[in-house]
Amino acid sequence: MPTSRELLAEVKAEIREIDGAEAERSLSAALVLDVREPDEYEQGAIPGALHIPRGHLEGQVEGKVPDKSRPIIVHCASGFRSAFATKTLQDLGYEDVVNLAGGFNKWKDEGRPWQTPRTLTADQRNRYQRHLLLPEVDVKGQQKLLESKVLLLGAGGLGSPAALYLAAAGVGTLGVIDMDVVDESNLQRQVLHNMDRVGERKVDSAKKTLTALNPDVDVVTYDVRLGADNILDVIDGYDVIVDGTDNFPTRYLVNDASLVKRIPVVHGSIFRFEGQATVFAPYDGPCYRCMIPEPPPPELAPSCAEAGVLGVLPGVIGSIQAMEAMKVLLGLGDPLIGRLLAYDALEESFRVFRVHRDPECPACGADAGEIVIAEYDELCMPHPKEPPAAS
Ligand SMILES: [Zn+2]
Repeated sequence: MPTSRELLAEVKAEIREIDGAEAERSLSAALVLDVREPDEYEQGAIPGALHIPRGHLEGQVEGKVPDKSRPIIVHCASGFRSAFATKTLQDLGYEDVVNLAGGFNKWKDEGRPWQTPRTLTADQRNRYQRHLLLPEVDVKGQQKLLESKVLLLGAGGLGSPAALYLAAAGVGTLGVIDMDVVDESNLQRQVLHNMDRVGERKVDSAKKTLTALNPDVDVVTYDVRLGADNILDVIDGYDVIVDGTDNFPTRYLVNDASLVKRIPVVHGSIFRFEGQATVFAPYDGPCYRCMIPEPPPPELAPSCAEAGVLGVLPGVIGSIQAMEAMKVLLGLGDPLIGRLLAYDALEESFRVFRVHRDPECPACGADAGEIVIAEYDELCMPHPKEPPAAS
């Protein structure tokens, strides 16, 4: 049986090692792979390093580093464990792997760059475990979510499922704007609330439910009516807006303000047995005015309260909105930018329609003038020269 020293010598004969200076020069081109234990990593790490503890290397590396031709610099604390890890990676078919001689300790002693990585707490690792198992999310994505701010317009039918899922997923700040109180007739679809909360402000009820679900989430409430006077202040600083409002004037107002602030809006709407969702990415895709230049006459656009809506339907559309918000936050997949997803509950079918940016859009078109944030009446006329007089 060889001793560990002999085994190391054997492995070292089959791998290449580089010193700190060479590694530092290669930082921009190579991936640094840190194979130390989590408690060592949390004390300090090379910036940008991918952390996979030695014990998880074989199981995780191909998911996290699918490109086997990518240059990799492996390190541990002293260069011992990483020598074996380097050999393992070579055996797995990685073509350009080197070991950092002396490991992180020598790197640090030589005064090379390192930092204390932001990490998740043990509780967070447990709570978001299913996210951490997805290479596309992982610790980095989860931290991104925890640092993200999503504003929910409405704590009603669409806002309820969207808020619940975004809170559960660990979106760190959820703004909720709603000026209503919980009514028993809301409970057929507004699953944020319950019988004990009837008569309570909806935003307070939402905050209780969301905080009980996930204490990581900071719920910021706005018990106000969204209007031209406050919208720019309210939406400022949010990464994504989830629009669950049910009337045209507010949608135009939200559209114009989101263009000014360049905040993407995940739009959703429901009507009887049908729903739709899309994502408005300011100046990257169509805006609400590109899609619906003029609102339908009021008699053809009854509100949800007047038209009725089948329970569960807002759960489907609101959940799609939450999913699109997550994708926008994480830069994942293809969000519904320039595409309108239409759902028919009776047929149980989804259809996707292309929506194009209108070059002559009065809000986001090339010749659009400066956007005026104004109150809109039921005609929602775009860009009045003067904001209409308050009524
Ligand atoms: Zn537009």
